[in-house]
Amino acid sequence: MPTYHNAGAGYPNVSAQSRQGKVDGNQNHHTIPSNVTAAHSLIQNALQSMQSIQSIHTIPSIPSNMTVSNMLPHTVSPIMTTHMSPVPSPVILTPSAVSNPSTNTTAALSANTRHEVKLNAMPWFHGKISRETAERLLRPREDGLFLVRESTNFPGDYTLCVCYQGRVQHYRVKYKNNQLTIDDEVFFENLALLVEHYELDADGLCTQLTKSLPKQGKQDFCVDPKAFVEAGWVIQTHELELRECIGKGEFGDVLLGVYRGERVAVKMLKDNSEAAQRFLAEASLMTSLIHDNLVKLLGLVFNNQHMYLVTEYMSKGSLVDYLRSRGRLHVTKKDQINFAFDTCAGMAYLESRHVVHRDLAARNVLVAEDNSAKVSDFGLARDENFSLDGGKLPIKWTAPEALKQNKFSNKSDMWSFGILLWEIYSFGRVPYPRIPLADVVKCVEKGYKMEPPDGCPSEVYDIMKQIFEFMSVK
Ligand code: AMP
Repeated sequence: MPTYHNAGAGYPNVSAQSRQGKVDGNQNHHTIPSNVTAAHSLIQNALQSMQSIQSIHTIPSIPSNMTVSNMLPHTVSPIMTTHMSPVPSPVILTPSAVSNPSTNTTAALSANTRHEVKLNAMPWFHGKISRETAERLLRPREDGLFLVRESTNFPGDYTLCVCYQGRVQHYRVKYKNNQLTIDDEVFFENLALLVEHYELDADGLCTQLTKSLPKQGKQDFCVDPKAFVEAGWVIQTHELELRECIGKGEFGDVLLGVYRGERVAVKMLKDNSEAAQRFLAEASLMTSLIHDNLVKLLGLVFNNQHMYLVTEYMSKGSLVDYLRSRGRLHVTKKDQINFAFDTCAGMAYLESRHVVHRDLAARNVLVAEDNSAKVSDFGLARDENFSLDGGKLPIKWTAPEALKQNKFSNKSDMWSFGILLWEIYSFGRVPYPRIPLADVVKCVEKGYKMEPPDGCPSEVYDIMKQIFEFMSVK
């Protein structure tokens, strides 16, 4: 897992900005070249171009354990493939389009009806505001009017501010044993449940919470682990066997596991409530996205100490490691175009679902046993602090407009896809070689474009150029 993610200490929730940021309104602020009418057609164009390049390479022989539909991403027009069609309803479908032939687990799970897990809105959460600001906002001082803010005195904790008899009472909400509490007697999984409780009953507060003061502008969300139980995504601890560590991620170790006789990947979340919300936010998004070229969520395990996110196992690891370790000797042109096509198909699906990845790069694409590539980490929610200031943006993969204005969209994902293409054809080199990180933005803004990697087919370089030119046109 890359290390630039903003850990967002003190921000356990998913900001509405991140969520809204995932919705590409397709507001195009550029003059669009005549051959490209929108990022949407850009990605479709890229898919089609790559498909024609694919056809130049010999079609791989179909392994006996592979169905025809498994081969679709490599052989059939993307428009015709079932996995390309957006899931129209918010209710999760049984994963019938699962392509990994070895993943019977997913087929077994398809017998269960599982539903999408939604995030809960927290309009009353005002983030990092001071005590004075809270008191200024809470007017008129009606009994029971309330908001929640981040604690200034106890970073990581919260403060519930409630109006009562013309004054504002401030209650510290602290984390204890991974749960939230005001009185050390009643404990809650998250802020939404805490607020819900005190809306029903004062239970020791000066007054019951009767009216929330909604935050203006971006609002926050949280996820309730129980929602995963209700939606049918929970795996019992005893059903999962844990094996060795296979990677290190933002939230903790990634382990190999065995679930229902199949190998799976298990992302472990250590005892950390702040990260828990982001972890669950990722999982909640994954419950709604099903595509052959996205790493599939199988379920979650909750126990007292840990939360595990169980996904399909991608035995060949991250694409960047795959390219670097095998290199030119082993990675063929056909492999390269297939990786590019698969990733593009996954991204086209995300676009069709109005989801913006924000962190597409070869390190976040995983390779399956059958060599298909799947986009991972597509549910990582970014809080509003995810900005340049933290120095944590993946500068070399991020579109200039996203860097400058913190504006992420399917278009900025497309820029990252252009960089990823370059990574694929350079066998995993770090982009913009020989340009110091500090100078990359300046160079790109001046119109600098990377040279094609050695041996990169001109058709593929044309796609890269088209992407960068499209994004650079003002
Ligand atoms: P992540 O937290 O998703 O960035 O994962 C960190 C590392 O763990 C990756 O770079 C992979 O090496 C490994 N990993 C994550 N997910 C999987 C998976 N589904 N299958 C195999 N390896 C994985």
